[in-house]
Amino acid sequence: MDAAEFRRRGKEMVDYVANYLANIEQRPVYSDVKPGYLRSLIPTEAPLEPENYEDVIKDVERVIMPGVTHWHSPYFYAYFPTASSYPAMLADMLCGAIGGMGFTWASSPVCTELEIVMLDWLGKMLKLPEHFIAGTHGQGGGVIQGTASEATLMSVLAARCKAIQQVQASNPGQSEAEILPKLVAYTSEQAHCSVERASLIGGVMMRKVPTDDNYAVRGGMFKKMLEEDKAAGLIPFYLCATLGTTPSCGFDHITELGPICNKENMWMHIDAAYAGSAFICPEFRPLLNGVEFADSFNFNPHKWLLTNFDCSTMWVKNRDDIIGVFKNSDQPFYLKHEHQESGLVTDYRNWQIPHGRRFRSLKLWFVFRMYGIQGLQAHIRKQVALAKEFESLVRADKRFEICAEVIMGLVCFRLKGSNQLTELLLKRITESREIHLVPCQLSGCFVLRFAICARTTDSKHIQQAWRHITQLTFEILQEPNH
Ligand code: PLP
Repeated sequence: MDAAEFRRRGKEMVDYVANYLANIEQRPVYSDVKPGYLRSLIPTEAPLEPENYEDVIKDVERVIMPGVTHWHSPYFYAYFPTASSYPAMLADMLCGAIGGMGFTWASSPVCTELEIVMLDWLGKMLKLPEHFIAGTHGQGGGVIQGTASEATLMSVLAARCKAIQQVQASNPGQSEAEILPKLVAYTSEQAHCSVERASLIGGVMMRKVPTDDNYAVRGGMFKKMLEEDKAAGLIPFYLCATLGTTPSCGFDHITELGPICNKENMWMHIDAAYAGSAFICPEFRPLLNGVEFADSFNFNPHKWLLTNFDCSTMWVKNRDDIIGVFKNSDQPFYLKHEHQESGLVTDYRNWQIPHGRRFRSLKLWFVFRMYGIQGLQAHIRKQVALAKEFESLVRADKRFEICAEVIMGLVCFRLKGSNQLTELLLKRITESREIHLVPCQLSGCFVLRFAICARTTDSKHIQQAWRHITQLTFEILQEPNH
């Protein structure tokens, strides 16, 4: 493909994308392909000779689209949202064109510099304490990770490194191998599965803290566990608190947990993967109170801030802590550059697991400028209002119950009675392919999660989704065994 053809095909692709998104609700939101469907649709070997672009693009509808779950359909209510907006998509296109790597400042200076400033912009939107903002006299700063899972892993590794140093400082004879088995990390029993994974990769024990009636971790229970573990000779060193848990969007009480962590010299990481975006609205910001006690904080603009995957923003109170994880790793000649010791530049490869890194801050720059803070706040508020609308529909129907407080864009609900009834309802919903939801388990109950996801979801879609759910419910309850 030469430049002339790229110009033509690029314009066609923009049209295809615009049409796809404009007409997305006409497609069944949930794919009905069977496992292995694709193998029979394409050759078993890569082509030896180049093919025509026409043949490739024709296969998008034949091969690709049947297996797509349409996350940006206004009838998609599963998981949590994955963000999408036109400005972010355009920025991604430019990122692909520049196509460089930002592992060190010198490898593409703007990639590092824009990221530092965008994380400061975003940190200020969230009213983060000054020590997290790079452009101040503090020791902290922000970085874009690929995912919240990577951010959590980095925080576990940084905390582990710091804890080992602290233990060795007071017990000089102790080896890392002796200390590691005694280190204990904590998280909520409601935390995302990626948190436990971080402890497995980090080679540290992790204990799950039971939650209260609102599925949130409180100081009392956490403190009790710490006392027990310390009495058993263990060394508590890390807590991952969650703001906006995956099952029910519960909020751990970080104003209680933070002071405990600070007193015990433990690292507190806050995972606000979904809910973090909402803290740009003053009415939701109080839920972030207590962040001043945290050593690191992370959320995903790629979930709820109109920035396409991947873009997971993480701030640390002290950048030396995170850089410290890799301080003993080799620095090859080809990565050295004249500014690295100047104290004026950041080499982001030392803040993350992978070596390579994309120019992801370009998406934030486009999105912030094209929406403005007000536009982003309007998006959050609209989605929360839609969740409240759905909640009222559920509450008005005596056959159903709401299973957790609706604070943001997630409604947890179920049919009263046996779990089997709600399980059957979900089965029928999934088979219908008209709307898409996933379940969770809360207090032993099988619960449906209705998350407002697509940017274009409106009241009419919520009303239609509810009509569909009640119609299926009516049919189920007509069946003889119910
Ligand atoms: N933490 C929470 C609270 C989540 O809800 C999720 C995903 O939904 C994650 C972490 C994982 O996010 P990522 O896919 O960016 O690793």
